[in-house]
Amino acid sequence: MNGNNPGKQVIVTITGKDAPGITSSLTEILNREGVRLLDIEQSVTHGLLSLSIVIEFAETGGDEAAVLKDLLFKAKELGITLDFIVVEGEAVLRSSSTQFAITLMSGELQARHVAAISAVLAKRRVNIDSIRKLNEGGLSCIELITYTNSEIDIAEVKDDLLKVAGRFSGLDIAVQRENLFRRAKRLVVMDMDSTLIQVEVIDELAKLYGVGRQVGRITERAMAGELDYDQSIRERVGLLKGLSESRMKEVADQIPLTPGADTLIRTLKRLGYKIALISGGFSYFGNHLQEKLGLHYVHTNELEIQNGVLTGKLLGPIVNAERKAELLESIAAEEGVPLESTIAIGDGANDVLMLKKAGLGIAFNAKKKARSAADAAINQKTLASILYLLGITDKDIEEVSKY
Ligand SMILES: [Mg+2]
Repeated sequence: MNGNNPGKQVIVTITGKDAPGITSSLTEILNREGVRLLDIEQSVTHGLLSLSIVIEFAETGGDEAAVLKDLLFKAKELGITLDFIVVEGEAVLRSSSTQFAITLMSGELQARHVAAISAVLAKRRVNIDSIRKLNEGGLSCIELITYTNSEIDIAEVKDDLLKVAGRFSGLDIAVQRENLFRRAKRLVVMDMDSTLIQVEVIDELAKLYGVGRQVGRITERAMAGELDYDQSIRERVGLLKGLSESRMKEVADQIPLTPGADTLIRTLKRLGYKIALISGGFSYFGNHLQEKLGLHYVHTNELEIQNGVLTGKLLGPIVNAERKAELLESIAAEEGVPLESTIAIGDGANDVLMLKKAGLGIAFNAKKKARSAADAAINQKTLASILYLLGITDKDIEEVSKY
């Protein structure tokens, strides 16, 4: 960015009560004196302005002292504090080559959380470029944009951060490479049972049919990845043989959506995302949710029904872990979305391949296998917290809801 013979560089920092016209009157002085602007960054927190400007004086002289004096006078007039540091050598300008977005979430974010996380960053020589609060009300979510000029291994930093975060109950942390792709995701594929909804439908059906305990035990082991998935689902569906089709409506009518599901889906749809449900659950329920939430795609398992009664068999290929990943890929291809721009959300062992394949795999209140396969593991109450990972604030959500 600089020429071969840079002139004197100075970092000017301004703090004080924000008011209209501060930035304009200061930059007007720089303009008048022909000072080159190398970098500028401003933020306002609770009415307090913080502005930093990196400037460069022409090599051929010019009256640096006079310009700085003018700036100081103007600052005094405006009632703000202005400091400057003459840079030895060349100013280190922010580089966009190795930036990371770190999202911190907790019911209540505390100083000890931020202290622990920033200590890891300091140890790893990662600089914090900006910090902003994403939620409204009490402090529960912040996003740090960090950068480093050294070649660091993001996986190592991430491991360190996760380890530290693990010491605090209720604290979630997500580390993502900060680039255009982070905010330009276009397709979300979601698991249904225990992700979009709070129950495992097959367990609910089984309870109605008096085989709840038997089925529930198998489901739990299947979701933890302890059983062969295809075999386990055939076995469980077999136990439902004879269940009347009409009872499925009873379960469908009472399905509890996960808190925030509605906000997540409505917001993403308004932002132009395509949403797909990819589930090992059953079509009756998938279709019900598709209608209720306006989902673009639904892929589920199909129960065979004869004379209004479940036969205990499945129709067609089973939607298992492999199939889930394939479906993500084929929907992305159909929508012309690169995998980099996809998000997968799931909780079970059968979501692992889909989570790995997506540009951003999110384990939501997930079992261990899914958590370790995902790019980010979120254990918050609401699905809407996933929006924070995309840098979407509560204010944005509210704004979008108006359209
Ligand atoms: Mg699930």
